[in-house]
Amino acid sequence: MIKQEFKAESKRLLEMMINSIYTQREIFLRELISNASDAIDKIYYKALTDDNLVFNQADYYVKVTADKEARTLTITDTGIGMTQEELENNLGVIAKSGSLAFKKDNESKDGHNIIGQFGVGFYAAFMVADRVTVTSRALGSDEAFKWESEGADGYTIVPSEKATVGTEIVLHIKPNTEDDNYDEFLEEYRLRSVIKKYSDFIRYPIKMDVKGQ
Ligand code: ADP
Ligand code: MG
Repeated sequence: MIKQEFKAESKRLLEMMINSIYTQREIFLRELISNASDAIDKIYYKALTDDNLVFNQADYYVKVTADKEARTLTITDTGIGMTQEELENNLGVIAKSGSLAFKKDNESKDGHNIIGQFGVGFYAAFMVADRVTVTSRALGSDEAFKWESEGADGYTIVPSEKATVGTEIVLHIKPNTEDDNYDEFLEEYRLRSVIKKYSDFIRYPIKMDVKGQ
């Protein structure tokens, strides 16, 4: 299995995320839920023009599962999923759309608050996780692939299995340090308040499940 390197620009962004330049780490969840919602939108819009595809509102949701024993936080969606190529292209490089967090005109002024408001994208996961595993199965495919990275030194993609179309993102939450508390992102009340704060407008249900003490 060959470890792929991130492109230079992505690597820089990733390093910043790992070293958490943001005071508001909690925004990682907003980013992942917004990606999940975008992925469901893609099925929704496809269904509008594709007679073979029926969009049943009830089948589409985002699920956030915390497992305290395993120290994992999992974000699952029933969206459009990603092919092997899409995993490579979308998660191996910074997306060209909203993710560029470092545009000069949006920096400064009110400092961190402004930064916290805009999309920093998928890599925000590395503010709270030391390993991220993305298993995805694209609409129309019965194959699944697993993208995995422990941070700046690259990622791997291997064939995997997944019973349904969509994406599952497992964050292996960092251990607490003297200065930093990461356990909070496994706590139900904390997760609920972050979801309420940033993801209230999401038009699909966000389900939650917390396991362990
Ligand atoms: P942005 O959302 O601004 O495009 P991100 O860094 O958040 O940038 O995500 C990069 C890309 O990865 C997305 O544009 C999308 O193509 C893909 N992606 C991320 N999360 C998911 C997901 N849960 N399901 C499908 N595709 C996803
Ligand atoms: Mg995004």
